[in-house]
Amino acid sequence: MPCCASKNKQVQDLLQNSNAKKVFGISTLFIVSTNYLKLEKAMVQTVIHYFLHLGMPLIIAYLFFRNDYKRVYLILLATMLVDLDHLLATPIFSPNRCSINFHPLHTYYVMAGYVVMLFLPKPYKIIGLGLLLHMLTDLNDCVMTYLNCPQCLSEVPALALVEWLAKAVKS
Ligand SMILES: [Zn+2]
Repeated sequence: MPCCASKNKQVQDLLQNSNAKKVFGISTLFIVSTNYLKLEKAMVQTVIHYFLHLGMPLIIAYLFFRNDYKRVYLILLATMLVDLDHLLATPIFSPNRCSINFHPLHTYYVMAGYVVMLFLPKPYKIIGLGLLLHMLTDLNDCVMTYLNCPQCLSEVPALALVEWLAKAVKS
């Protein structure tokens, strides 16, 4: 029954597309509404942080690697292991620390390596993509912390970049 097989395929495609739209819609609504509700700034920052760590990789996996999105999502999530380099720092956790250019696997030199990974075959390019998304998430966190409390980040190694981005966001 070729007619029904192709119909089924069409319906499936439609469902997949509407799912992608739903994921996008819900996450945008979530971010916008948390902002409008004027929840505590730290809370908004935490919500955005976890959305970027957990939700964004799913959206990217689904939109760009649809045939294989579950595996790609898992690889993207696994790149969070890059934070194991925090174990080398003393203290291991510090609330107002900006990871960028501080921890060894978060330095600008190593990030250049992550960019190179984008040009390698799978799964290396997905690992590189995940690592770069992770760096953007951490950087976004630094900028949000800076906007709330510039003096909190007065001694971070990525201060110049964070200051420049904070100014760009404000203007
Ligand atoms: Zn990190």
